[in-house]
Amino acid sequence: MTEYFYPGRMGRILLLAMEEVIGKEGVHSVLGLSPVTSNMEGYLDTRSEKTFPFTVMTQLQESLEQLYGPQGGRGTALRIGRACFQYGLREYGSLLGVTETAFRLLPLHTKVRLGAKSFAGLFNKHTDQRVRLEEKDDKLFWHIERCPLCWERKTSSPVCNLAVGLLQEALYWVSGSKIFQIEEIACIARGDPACTILIDPTPLS
Ligand SMILES: [Zn+2]
Repeated sequence: MTEYFYPGRMGRILLLAMEEVIGKEGVHSVLGLSPVTSNMEGYLDTRSEKTFPFTVMTQLQESLEQLYGPQGGRGTALRIGRACFQYGLREYGSLLGVTETAFRLLPLHTKVRLGAKSFAGLFNKHTDQRVRLEEKDDKLFWHIERCPLCWERKTSSPVCNLAVGLLQEALYWVSGSKIFQIEEIACIARGDPACTILIDPTPLS
């Protein structure tokens, strides 16, 4: 069976963001909950493109739910997703093209659409995750067609909150501190063909 990965650099971003939200002790507890993650602590090969398997990413989400309860775990994943963006920007900002002055001067709608497109491209190029961006009826649909967050999971509701948090923070940053309605409306773990995150590109306030 094919195994899919995130690169070590992104795995490190995820662990740093997790530490920021739940502290060193929290990370220690989460990693210790499964044999899939228990020997990861303190070691992560950030040079390798194939360091962080989808099975580990998904296990971390499940362990968060185990530790904090389903609701609390998903809320925590959302916050970790937001924190991931700040670390990600430091690591990948120059690749995204969103830090340049020319980009910052574009109209809001264009920035949101181009920003989302640029993030999708980053995942498609640097990870085994597959994202397809669709524009329909003035809305953006972020379809994760191969998702690292719910890999081989079976659930009754969408569980890829980390991706929602990441997009919330990304668009908050791209738009100069505007808040958007962003929600996961379909999830592979629930039997849907993709994990779909609906983005309303008109800010709430
Ligand atoms: Zn998913």
